[in-house]
Amino acid sequence: MRVKRRSRHRKVVKFYSTCFGFREPYKVLVDGTFVHHLLLHRLLPADDALRELLSASRPPPLFTSKCVLAELRRLGKSHSEAFDAAQLLATASCEHDKVVSAVDCILSLLGDKNPEHYFVATQDSDLRAKLREVPGVPVIYGLKNSLFIEQPSMQQRKFAQLDEEKRINMEKSEYKKLLKATSEGKTSGDATTQGMAEKSKFKRNRAKGPNPLSCKKKKPKAQPSAAQNQGSQADGEAKRKRVRKRKRSGEKSNGTETSS
Ligand SMILES: [Zn+2]
Repeated sequence: MRVKRRSRHRKVVKFYSTCFGFREPYKVLVDGTFVHHLLLHRLLPADDALRELLSASRPPPLFTSKCVLAELRRLGKSHSEAFDAAQLLATASCEHDKVVSAVDCILSLLGDKNPEHYFVATQDSDLRAKLREVPGVPVIYGLKNSLFIEQPSMQQRKFAQLDEEKRINMEKSEYKKLLKATSEGKTSGDATTQGMAEKSKFKRNRAKGPNPLSCKKKKPKAQPSAAQNQGSQADGEAKRKRVRKRKRSGEKSNGTETSS
């Protein structure tokens, strides 16, 4: 189960690095809800937990923002531990002179296309829904003491299919149109073929022949020792007994059949 989940996560990270140019060290933008969750479930040290989640070679730096911190502070005593922890993280510099809500701040940091290649970690389901509509934003969330990366949304997959030039020159209004078309299912036919294309793109080359790591080395033939001999004799005796037993039970069942 764990192995399965890890390979699923690896595929998602690969999708974002192939289609949106994510590179290590990955950057994770966290909000207060996520920091609170990390502390509540002792997912610490957090950067190690995230490194494992992303199968990264080094711990990813974590970012908050001025507005995220301000919101955490406003939540008061219940979130004071999260506020203290969040204060130790790096801050992404937003352009808000007057603080805005954490959601608005994060969305503005991502802009239309997430040029800084942030992973966004949040427990806020409304924010997660909004993030699915921004191309190239992988979303991380926690469920109890496990972390997950969301599968890329259909809109994001659709966007990744467009050729690069089109993507760069795409206006927000055009992207909105694309979103609408996808959600209305106009492109459902395309979606399935695209899904298949996605699959084949990430198809792993299967090894041919047996896995050399799971094969035993050939042993040079040695004279069987006395102990082994005894063992095999005992085995033989057990086998014979079993056969005898089977025969007997067979006879019995035959007997009942004929009598009935
Ligand atoms: Zn801000």
